[in-house]
Amino acid sequence: MPPVRSAPERRELLKAVFEEAQGCVACQLHQSRTRVVFGAGNADADLMFVGEAPGANEDRLGLPFVGQAGKLLDKLLAEIGLDRQDVFICNTIKCRPPDNRDPHPHEIEACRPYLFRQIELIEPTVICTLGNFSTKLLRGDTTGISRLHGQAEVRVIGPRAVRLYPLYHPAAALYTPSTLETLRADFGRIPELLAQGAPPQPEPVAPVPEPEPDPIPEPERDPEPRPGAVLDGAGRDAGSVRAVEQLGLF
Ligand code: URA
Repeated sequence: MPPVRSAPERRELLKAVFEEAQGCVACQLHQSRTRVVFGAGNADADLMFVGEAPGANEDRLGLPFVGQAGKLLDKLLAEIGLDRQDVFICNTIKCRPPDNRDPHPHEIEACRPYLFRQIELIEPTVICTLGNFSTKLLRGDTTGISRLHGQAEVRVIGPRAVRLYPLYHPAAALYTPSTLETLRADFGRIPELLAQGAPPQPEPVAPVPEPEPDPIPEPERDPEPRPGAVLDGAGRDAGSVRAVEQLGLF
């Protein structure tokens, strides 16, 4: 099935969602975050990874998986002949929970529209969920990762069907060799899943009226620039403008 929108259209829409996320105040995590970690990579990727939540390094840099777990993810990608420019990587929630605690259900719910918009716009054929949080959210079920890892299934997420492929979170594999071996073996099946292409798509819903995308909570007000922020010509925090460039591959 051909993509619903052209690649430039999807890129522009994704940038708009990115900008919107920069000012998000939909849950209390906006009070403690340094940066919104929207996600990064190739907006035309067939393969998408969804982790849990930004940690301290991600919060500081505004990019996903830049710490030890990210290094392992890069290594596993390289072993199957891919790098970050081939994929899109993001998280279930886009702001760091204080002290790296687990995301709360209301935070996951508040952030859900961003993830669903990302999936709708990137149109991946394979989504690897990394760990329990993204697996449970995208399967809409409480079954845990240890029962599901390595088993691909076709799931309809938003308007499209994808091959959902749950994997252990790389952080869980860092210090447990047996989990690493399992994760590596599961990674080894990704090329085969990609080669299968997009699964059969559901019949499009009657186009009139066009279904509204999940609403993304409006910020209550223009976010205050960060202390010491450089403002661009429009009075916006230039740090967030630069972040679009930092993502680079949009
Ligand atoms: N763990 C995650 O789930 N996401 C990140 O971005 C980093 C570590």
